Amino acid sequence: MNSNPQSAGQPTPPAPPQRVLVTGGSGFIGSHLSRRLLAQGHEVLVVDNFYSSTRRNVQDLIGEPRFELMRHDVTFPLYVEVDQIYHLACPASPVFYQRDPVQTTKTCVHGSINMLGLAKRLGARILLTSTSEVYGDPLEHPQTESYWGNVNPIGVRSCYDEGKRCAETLFFDYYRQHQLPIKVARVFNTYGPNMLPNDGRVVSSFIVQALRGEPVTVYGDGSQTRSFCYVDDLIDGLIAFMNSPEQVTGPINIGNPGEFTMLELAKKVLTLTGSDCPIENRPLRADDPVRRKPDIGRAWEQLGWQPRISLDDGLQPTVEYFRRELAAGR
Ligand code: UDP
Repeated sequence: MNSNPQSAGQPTPPAPPQRVLVTGGSGFIGSHLSRRLLAQGHEVLVVDNFYSSTRRNVQDLIGEPRFELMRHDVTFPLYVEVDQIYHLACPASPVFYQRDPVQTTKTCVHGSINMLGLAKRLGARILLTSTSEVYGDPLEHPQTESYWGNVNPIGVRSCYDEGKRCAETLFFDYYRQHQLPIKVARVFNTYGPNMLPNDGRVVSSFIVQALRGEPVTVYGDGSQTRSFCYVDDLIDGLIAFMNSPEQVTGPINIGNPGEFTMLELAKKVLTLTGSDCPIENRPLRADDPVRRKPDIGRAWEQLGWQPRISLDDGLQPTVEYFRRELAAGR
């Protein structure tokens, strides 16, 4: 392991408590982030419209004096008083974001305009969880932040890909035009507890299928690759980014560079769950990127961040989580 370039010999002092808004805070990533911020002593306001999340993810936090949950759709303006904004709100799995594509674009674009307007009024720091989807089906491998991407503007993934690209544009225009303190994180595939069993993402789908004794559905021949980051690592990266010096705006890739084919993932899941279910090949989805792997050099240089948890180590608690979910009838 390298030594941390930023904090070598100088531990970062703990940040003073802040009022923090997490949009999409009852979703998969948002619920982990909210918990971590509360544990750090912050006040946390979660807003969510529960389109692709469940209140169950934060149910146990209700009643905690520093926690508040508000049903709100970010495509409408929001008037609250906070110091920092983590803007996560948006359906992120292809199944959810393609169900109502017009609403997905509105969420990306109107949602970002509303949250940037809020940040501007408050002078608050605002972090966008953008996505590796801005690289589309990448012609550069691994993907560095300077790569502009290869995105179909009129395909079924475009509502999300172009929506997030436009959100990034808005963030950088607010930075240039209004000197707003922005942070743009490009989140690569992430997994862990609190994913919805039916969100159609590959990790949740494979685990749920294996635990239910159903065939594991590999799209295409399964040679396409993804790089999977365990959610705890991702949260470390997002919080380090939010609290980095003001000139660190990103975009910064946050992901785990370990690269696996979908067939390798299916085999890992079958081994870990002890399942003997067959692997079934299904047609490949339109515009499904062939390869994806982050270059995380910038995250290391500017945030001193790198992931620590291997896919095998992260899959274990994820499998246990889904075992409990299925046992509870979900
Ligand atoms: N995939 C698969 N079987 C499934 C779901 C997904 O083989 O049941 C593949 C999909 O074709 C893609 C990869 O897994 O190549 C990741 O898909 P996911 O929906 O998790 O996210 P993406 O990275 O495509 O946004």
